[in-house]
Amino acid sequence: MTKIVTRFAPSPTGYLHIGGARTALFNWLFARHHGGTFLLRIEDTDRERSTQDAVDKIFEGLTWLGLDWDGEPVLQFARMNRHAEVAHKLLAEGKAYHCYCSPEELEEMRATAKAEGRPMRYDGRWRDRDPKDAPAGVKPVVRFKAPQTGSTLIKDHVQGDVTFQNEQLDDLIILRSDGTPTYNLSVVVDDHDMGVTHIIRGDDHLTNAARQTQLYLAAGFAVPEFAHIPLIHGADGAKLSKRHGALGTEAYADMGYLPAAMRNYLLRLGWSHGDDEIISTEQAIEWFGLDHVGRSPARFDFVKLNNLNGHYIRSTPDADLLQAALPFIAKRVGRAPDTIEQAKVMAILPAVKERAKDLNELAEGVLFLFAMRPLAPDAAAQKHLDDGAKQRLKKLAEALAALNDWSAAAAEAAVRALAEAEQVKLGQMAQPLRAALTGRTVSPPIFDVLAVLGRDETLARLADITG
Ligand code: GLU
Repeated sequence: MTKIVTRFAPSPTGYLHIGGARTALFNWLFARHHGGTFLLRIEDTDRERSTQDAVDKIFEGLTWLGLDWDGEPVLQFARMNRHAEVAHKLLAEGKAYHCYCSPEELEEMRATAKAEGRPMRYDGRWRDRDPKDAPAGVKPVVRFKAPQTGSTLIKDHVQGDVTFQNEQLDDLIILRSDGTPTYNLSVVVDDHDMGVTHIIRGDDHLTNAARQTQLYLAAGFAVPEFAHIPLIHGADGAKLSKRHGALGTEAYADMGYLPAAMRNYLLRLGWSHGDDEIISTEQAIEWFGLDHVGRSPARFDFVKLNNLNGHYIRSTPDADLLQAALPFIAKRVGRAPDTIEQAKVMAILPAVKERAKDLNELAEGVLFLFAMRPLAPDAAAQKHLDDGAKQRLKKLAEALAALNDWSAAAAEAAVRALAEAEQVKLGQMAQPLRAALTGRTVSPPIFDVLAVLGRDETLARLADITG
């Protein structure tokens, strides 16, 4: 069997957005599943809109997602001469021709098409014309002699058989008058030269697939397999926009999503394996195939992404989670936590990770460890610190100070005993305690907080409040 070669071919005109990331993931999984090769090609021929910053963002985004590509990335612009070479070969073989149409003539064709309510198609007026008719001083473009009758069939792995009537596809410009190659030609030559066997991309490229197929055939290249995936829509079914989550991967990184969760989520955006929702990357590599890519557009849904992320946070080993969370903590604290602080974070992590849906929430959950005394309880916490509460906290501080064993369990027993003796509900002890120790009304389980803060810090924070 021939070796599978896939590629991801982004245009570096912006960040690596979520649709592109999914395309990359599908290509990567397909290659890895088959023990094949996953290549990266930067389609930087639009010199006005392509930027180095966007190229870097694509590399960073793929790296963050854990999608490693094989070999060096191919830069399309640098291969311009090779693309032109193929165009000249087609010209020499009579499969392409010079067209000297003036802008005015093209405008006329456009106007006629518009008046007739059909899309503009070049009418082929230079296709068979004697080159001797060429007007002096005009630099021609090179047009591909596209088949005018019959049809072009795309046997698409996702869309099924898609037939294009050749009369609908006009003679494509393959070289501009300045000699530079155009998009479809470059893509075909690159995919051929890179040995790409499977092209998996968004279905907005389906018509290009027909034009490209004609070019492959004319050039004598083997036509690769195609899989055109439906584009991603928003939760409301409309085309994906920023409001829906059409952001760059770095935005998801900043929002505190884990790459593993993102991979799982993107995989399920358009591919399914029975009812499975949680699919590890190892399983995905084992199971992935083009036969289970959905035909209708998947909907981007933050609720699902958050649920998955929560799952991955809970199942990530604490030591790894600490590493992932450290930048988020550092951002809030204003410095990197030292090793003693990191050990405290580790101690509270099992409790915090149960509730956090992203790394920002995780960082929020451990911030109490870094609070400077005396704490400044927020307004909601203040409400739990009236005089009665302060009285109770004073007694509680005494009971806690008398403990031999400083642990969550011992603290809980002391708080419960005091609540009973004072004839108040547990919450009337626990909420003021939480407010005093964390300055918030929401925190990890309060007895865990106490255990991690340690005796001295706990008693000192209580004393700060009770005076
Ligand atoms: N550069 C194209 C894009 O970013 C992809 C072309 C392709 O995959 O063939 O949409």
